[in-house]
Amino acid sequence: MDTDALVIFSGGQDSTTCLAWALQRFERVRTLGFSYGQRHDVEMSCRETLRAALREINPLWARRLGEDQVLDVDLFRRLGGTALTEDMEIRMTEQGVPNTFVPGRNLLFLMLAAICAWRQGTRHLVMGVCETDFSGYPDCRDDAVKAMQVALNIGMDARMVVHTPLMWIDKAATWELALALGGRPLVECILEHTHTCYLGDRTVRHSWGYGCGRCPACRLRADGYAAFVAGKS
Ligand code: ZN
Repeated sequence: MDTDALVIFSGGQDSTTCLAWALQRFERVRTLGFSYGQRHDVEMSCRETLRAALREINPLWARRLGEDQVLDVDLFRRLGGTALTEDMEIRMTEQGVPNTFVPGRNLLFLMLAAICAWRQGTRHLVMGVCETDFSGYPDCRDDAVKAMQVALNIGMDARMVVHTPLMWIDKAATWELALALGGRPLVECILEHTHTCYLGDRTVRHSWGYGCGRCPACRLRADGYAAFVAGKS
């Protein structure tokens, strides 16, 4: 159905902006999360808070926001070898990607989301991947997502569309998009309730939100917010 969408929703800045984007466009929006033994489960615990906060921001969104589902993908932890699920220092690997990279993670997420969407009769999937702030994760690239869409449609005899509203915009423009979708209340909600920090640090509240301020995810978020604020002044 073209009225329905399924959003891959982690509780981070990008997927929350995508959720607001979908709520603005589709009449019924479900969310899907993945629990895979993330080293810090902070992001996952933000999800319900964010869903409730989005309902408060806009009565239309409150009517449109449907069920949430969390799938356990514990096999990532069992496969091991990544700083996202194990206690190891974040660094670049010999393969040229950060060791927070979980090979094929977004590909698997898309496949699982497509299975859920297929069962729900939904053909619109929304995912907050982005090629512009390329963090060295090859499965965030547009070609990877489009190839996956083709494979899913052939393999499931479906006509699914994977929407990636953030694919070609940077972090500052992602804040701009949030502002356009939900005004200051959405920007404030994302600042306060989304989580990005790889170390799960929520002890210090910066102008750009919570985090250690030093890990690659915090630096990207801080720089993006600074560029957004500079563009406003
Ligand atoms: Zn951090």
